[in-house]
Amino acid sequence: MNLIVSAPSGSGKTTILKKIFELYPDKFGFSVSATTRTPRQGEVNGKDYYFLSAEEFNKRIEASDFLEYEQVYDNLFYGTLKSEIDRINGEGRYPVFDVDVKGGVNIKKTLGDKAYSIFIMPPSVEVLKHRLVNRGTETEETLNKRIQRAEMEISYAKFFDKIIVNDDLATAVKEFSKAVEKYIL
Ligand code: ADP
Ligand code: 5GP
Repeated sequence: MNLIVSAPSGSGKTTILKKIFELYPDKFGFSVSATTRTPRQGEVNGKDYYFLSAEEFNKRIEASDFLEYEQVYDNLFYGTLKSEIDRINGEGRYPVFDVDVKGGVNIKKTLGDKAYSIFIMPPSVEVLKHRLVNRGTETEETLNKRIQRAEMEISYAKFFDKIIVNDDLATAVKEFSKAVEKYIL
């Protein structure tokens, strides 16, 4: 099985996935995406993302190396490398895809019954904005882009197998692990 997780940026997807990886330390493998975005403070190449130049990214598109890719923000590309599935399966783990909503829907379409998809929903767009501000990683410009995109992303929730509202973190993690135990493990 494969696990797809999508959410508007700031919903708490990374926070929840971190807890899930701690709860099931040897079950899942994080599919490391390629991106043309610059690394944030503390992000490691090959662990958080494969950070590529636009030119390198285009070469990988031409070589059909991607399971899917999207221009998520203006001029910023993100893509799932097919080689990640083999790498993770080779470790005897279930791949986890942390992708934007369109990527999530595309991977589900390709993998069908071999994938289970979860959408992490913020309690409201207001709360989402507060969380992004508190995280302290965004400039005013990137914050606005992420908020603008959130409305579109929320409209995709209905295409996912499960929607989990991340209001209280512990409750959301519990609901997530229940779904994972039922449909993946
Ligand atoms: P994403 O990966 O979806 O962009 P993050 O996991 O980075 O989101 O979470 C965004 C911010 O919100 C982080 O600062 C995180 O600590 C905080 N956060 C996550 N879940 C909750 C929650 N349930 N309640 C309050 N704050 C949260
Ligand atoms: P961030 O810049 O905050 O790390 O990610 C921005 C958005 O890009 C998030 O919604 C994240 O899920 C999405 N993303 C990350 N990797 C991929 C990928 O491989 N494919 C797609 N379609 N989206 C991705």
